[in-house]
This record gives sequence, C-alpha cells and structure tokens, in this order.
Amino acid sequence: MDVLAIGGHGEADRAALRDAFEVGFIDGPGDLAGIEEAARAQVRAVAYKSGAPLGAEAFDLLPGLGLVANYGVGFDAIDVDAAHARGVAVSNTPGVLDADVADLAVALLTSVHRGLGQAEAHLRSGDWAAGTPLPLARRLAGRKVGILGLGRIGHAIARRLAAADCEIHYWSRREKDTPGWAHHATPEALAEASDDMVVALVGGPETRGMVSRGVIAALGEDGVLVNISRGSCVDETALLDALENGGLRGAGLDVFENEPDIDPRFLQLDNVALQPHRGSATRETRAAMARLMRDNIAAHLAGRKLLTPVG
Ligand code: NAP
Repeated sequence: MDVLAIGGHGEADRAALRDAFEVGFIDGPGDLAGIEEAARAQVRAVAYKSGAPLGAEAFDLLPGLGLVANYGVGFDAIDVDAAHARGVAVSNTPGVLDADVADLAVALLTSVHRGLGQAEAHLRSGDWAAGTPLPLARRLAGRKVGILGLGRIGHAIARRLAAADCEIHYWSRREKDTPGWAHHATPEALAEASDDMVVALVGGPETRGMVSRGVIAALGEDGVLVNISRGSCVDETALLDALENGGLRGAGLDVFENEPDIDPRFLQLDNVALQPHRGSATRETRAAMARLMRDNIAAHLAGRKLLTPVG
C-alpha cells in the first residue's frame, strides 16, 4: 500500500481513495503499531481525518512517509515541526470550506439574537397555539461585530455580516486591506469596541485561551460570543461562568474543549445555540475537501508540487 488512510473517512471517500491509490485503512494512530513492519515501510502518504494527535511516534513507524494530507483546514492535531524535521510534508484543505463555516457562524449569531431555539420549542410545545406570550428577541442589524482572526473564514464571515448591516471590527496580527473595517490592536481592545465577537482563529498553543476571562468581561453583559474555530481558543470555564451569571448575554458554539464529551454545564443553558462541530458538514464541501486531500496525495506520489502545503 502507498497510502494509509487514518481516521473516520466516510464510505464514498474510502471508495474514491481505493479507486485512486493502493490504500489501507485504520481507525487511529494507535492502530499503527499493529500493521506489519513491511507494509508500514511501503507507506508514502497518510490521508488523515482525525482529531487525535499525530506526531513523532507515528512518523517513526512510517520510515517511507513523505506526506500527511490532512482532511480539513485546521491541522492543530498534527505535529508539523516533527513532520518537517523528518522531511515529511503536510497539506490541508483551505478555501473550499470557507462559505459553509461562515454561513454557520452567521446562523449561530442570528440564532442567539433571534432566539430561534426558544421560539421553535414554543411552537412545538403547543404554547403558541395556547396563546402563551413569547418574549421579544433582539436585532442583528446594526450590531458592532468583532471578528477575532481575519483569515479566510474570518473574512467570509465579515463579508456576510457587513451585508447584514453589521459594523465590522477585527483583530489580526497585522492590519489588512479591507473595505473600511476597523482594526484593533489587541483582542481586549476588539472586545471593548464590539457588541458581539466571532472567533475565527487557528487552533494550537499560540491561540490557546486567547478569548480570556478579560476579553469576555470586555464584551460585556449584552454581548454574544460565537466560536467556529477551535474550543482551545476560548477560556471555557470563564465562558460558562459568564453565561451562567449574566456576564454575557449568549453564545453560539460549534467547537468545544474535549469534543465530543463537552462540559455538561453547556447543556443546562438556555442562552446558547450549540452545534456538534458542523462548520464544514455539507455534502458539497466535504466532497471538495476529500478531493483536495486526494489531489495533494496524487501530486506527492507523482513528484509534483503540493497544491496546498502547510508551512
Ligand atoms: P487562516 O486563513 O489561516 O486564518 C487563521 C487566522 O488565525 C488568521 O486570522 C490568523 O491571523 C490567525 N492566526 C494564525 N496563527 C496565529 C497565531 N500564532 N497567533 C494569533 N493568531 C494567529 O485559516 P482559516 O482557513 O480561516 O481557518 C481558521 C480555522 O477555522 C482553522 O484553523 C480551523 O481550526 C477552524 N475551522 C473550523 C471548522 C468547523 O467545522 N467549525 C471548519 C474549518 C475550519 P492573521 O490574520 O494575523 O494571519
């Protein structure tokens, strides 16, 4: 086998991998040691679809490895430095998922402001038919929204919210060329200037806890926080405290620490909209991600330049 597919590749993607390559499948990096040494030595590329850490220990078991092709734009599970130190390239799937992740971010922000979950429960429970009053919701248009991390997805979110008549503020490491969106020097300054915040950072040690207790406090009691990036970017204890004690009006969350075993405190809250990491989960986008991952593997095996290398 040239290619080892690790993780939860779906049936259609497995079939496409089988059509394109000589491929073997395992559930996670922990299963690597169970593969015969001779078979491991043949592996030239890994197709990776997992949140489990992949690093030096795994690379040592694959001496012929030249590429880890990640299924996803976020590659924080992969030890890129350890890979590069062994001459192993890493690729990801940027760009093809921006629209879907941005759509979900806007949907979560809208859902919290308009109380979509509560209103649907009101209808389903018969309260509407019974004439029980439902409290008024809040307006999205006119809100000052701070985008934390104006990368590809952050930009797509900002464009959508600008079209919804929101005022766009952002923090990035450097000021960017934008249609008049306001750059702020720190995440705290962004929170001070914004009504709501949408987190679109990369995950990993550099951004861990960047939405700190202080940032959440600066957003304030009328603020809504949306996170579609990684759970690690937010101090989750501080977020839960603020949601429970009125320090923040609400939150829309697609990502969490310890997914999928999320903190049960979230499930007790009625001021949140929660999704099980569904940002890129449409048929169209998942097919495009799988295709780009395969195209990177094919390029590597043919000795061509990778389409979307990391680093
Ligand atoms: P991107 O274009 O690389 O943007 C990443 C953002 O993170 C940029 O704003 C960048 O800052 C910032 N950043 C990078 N390194 C940083 C550091 N060391 N310190 C502080 N900020 C840093 O990535 P993208 O394609 O927009 O994707 C962003 C993330 O979304 C992914 O990494 C992934 O974790 C997440 N995601 C989630 C889903 C989902 O299903 N919910 C789906 C896809 C992606 P600058 O602007 O200063 O460069």
